[in-house]
Amino acid sequence: MTYTAEIIGVGTELLLGNITNTDAQDVSKALSEIGVNVYFHTVVGDNPERLKQAVAIARGRADIIITTGGLGPTCDDLTKQTLAEAFGKQLVFSEDEAQKICDFFQRRLHNMEMTENNFQQAYLPEGCTIFDNGVGTAPGCAFESEGKHVLMLPGPPRECRDMLVKCAVPYLKNLSDQEIHSHNIHIFGMGESAVEARLRDMMNAMENPTLAPYAKDSEVQLRLTAKAKSKAEADSMMAPVLEKIQGILGDIIYGIDTETLENTVVGLLKENSKTLATAESCTGGLLSKRLTDIAGASKVFIGGMVTYATESKTSLLGVDAGLIREKGVASREVAEQMAIMVRRRFSTDLGVGITGITGPDSDESGREPGTVFVALSAEDRLWCRSLSLPFDRGRVRTAASSHALDMIRRYLTGLEI
Ligand code: ATP
Repeated sequence: MTYTAEIIGVGTELLLGNITNTDAQDVSKALSEIGVNVYFHTVVGDNPERLKQAVAIARGRADIIITTGGLGPTCDDLTKQTLAEAFGKQLVFSEDEAQKICDFFQRRLHNMEMTENNFQQAYLPEGCTIFDNGVGTAPGCAFESEGKHVLMLPGPPRECRDMLVKCAVPYLKNLSDQEIHSHNIHIFGMGESAVEARLRDMMNAMENPTLAPYAKDSEVQLRLTAKAKSKAEADSMMAPVLEKIQGILGDIIYGIDTETLENTVVGLLKENSKTLATAESCTGGLLSKRLTDIAGASKVFIGGMVTYATESKTSLLGVDAGLIREKGVASREVAEQMAIMVRRRFSTDLGVGITGITGPDSDESGREPGTVFVALSAEDRLWCRSLSLPFDRGRVRTAASSHALDMIRRYLTGLEI
């Protein structure tokens, strides 16, 4: 059976726009990973009447209702009372929970004074499963009533996340005798809508497994998810779909269940025993940062230079000043020379040069912001991508560094660059 869920965020500060509803994001992500379809997110203030209305709507359209917030000891923390009432349950005092709250105050809060209302948190709906709060005082809980499952989680994101992983997900997994397994397909070189357009017919026809695209920085990820009695069964359901996707998208898929593009590139450099050096201008060292995020990268990434000002391109890197004057600092020719010169400076197999205009203004030669040149030098060959990236500075940097990584990946796997 496939369950549907509605998440109800309780808290006036959410409605006022004072905080972002990150709990809903966390819960939705966790639910999608275990195959529960989240159909609605609702937010309601600290008001019992409106919460009651929201619950009445939710129980009519979802199998699982998950609330976040409103479990604390203050008078506006009304979730338990309202949900218990809505489902005809009494709140009963739990000695065990009261003791845990006392212990928490003694140990973690260094004997901070407890007030009577702290014990309000020890009242829980009769017959519920209690969810321990690993990082705070308010316990969460779950119960079933008239075929609906109700789960209540605390509002503070740290507490919500901890309880979600340790209690709510295992509780929900237990509702079904089926397991969820998935593959993440990593793509660079095509936008989300283009990927979706190529796979749309296939996606629309799919029920189990399902396929969902996600845009992430300058990349696209596809998650293929199957629900089955065992991992082996899920794998055999996903294998032909995976093959079909690979057939449609080809070599823009840089990995399946890999971590990042930089992970893939460092792995390939190691496998091929190749070394790399980088000369960066507009990316300001982001490419080096991404490479050095990977443990063990020092074996293959020898060094990088951030030659941001024109003088440093000539004095440190040795780019020809005349070439810069003639072609402009953000040009194909300068990117190529940066790649050649940095490779020479560091005596590496591969050299990358990146120069461009991150904006918001055009450069003196009138080139548009987002114009970036990424060059790769290897053996006696040179490649350069001329990019037009109509994004803000941060995204231009990310996209340009991803293009550099993609060029290295394609070179090392013998693909056209
Ligand atoms: P407490 O014991 O702290 O009262 P609680 O379960 O009653 O916990 P709330 O009082 O509703 O939770 O919220 C406590 C804090 O948690 C809020 O001030 C806010 O900073 C954060 N918070 C609540 N709900 C959310 C949410 N949906 N997303 C992100 N943060 C939230």
